[in-house]
Amino acid sequence: MSRARFQAVLFDFFGTLVDSLSASAHNDAVRAMGRLMGAPEQAFLVQWLSDYDARGSGRWPTVEDCVVHTCETIGISPDRARAAQAARIRVAFIRQALVLRPDARATLEAIKSRGLKTGLITDCPPELPALWPALGLEQLIDAPVFSCTAKLRKPDPRIYRMACDRLDVPPDACLFVGDGGSRELSGAEAAGMTAVCIRAASEDGYDPHRVDPETWHGPRIAALAEILGLLDAAR
Ligand SMILES: [Mg+2]
Repeated sequence: MSRARFQAVLFDFFGTLVDSLSASAHNDAVRAMGRLMGAPEQAFLVQWLSDYDARGSGRWPTVEDCVVHTCETIGISPDRARAAQAARIRVAFIRQALVLRPDARATLEAIKSRGLKTGLITDCPPELPALWPALGLEQLIDAPVFSCTAKLRKPDPRIYRMACDRLDVPPDACLFVGDGGSRELSGAEAAGMTAVCIRAASEDGYDPHRVDPETWHGPRIAALAEILGLLDAAR
């Protein structure tokens, strides 16, 4: 029997395994953090949004540090205790906003039952690795790679290679699944993987970087469970 083409499936997180965050709810929560810090809330929001890339690159190690930076940038002298409180509000907001796609858990279990490994490559701020143990995915994702701790963001080829190294699989044995933010699909292909575009879980999502889906000519799926058919067809 020939070797199966894929040995691992790697996932994006926001918009792929979970719904993207609602943009309006997200921005309301950030304004509330600004109010707590005594900042003009719109100025706080604008600065928080403009720091998106830097937070995902791990420039500030904790959520509290992110809050402090945003305040200082707009000329507010931050109270550390309030910044800690704002960080707790932020983490609680992200926690309640994370809703797994209905077929996520069963699909991950089915992939693992086929003997394949699973990975995660997500551009994310420090909230996600802080929450990861509480999400119940540790048994289902063998190698989570978070941009903020890797200090690399998609589509940097090194972040894909990092995931491969941690899974001990070559890139050409990896199927990458994402909704196309951060140019992650073309990035995965450039790194030597096969990529598939999944329709975003929600179109209202907070994702300022979803460019690939408009230009993507590769395979598309609408639900995670469709991955199983792709894997079986490739055997
Ligand atoms: Mg995404």
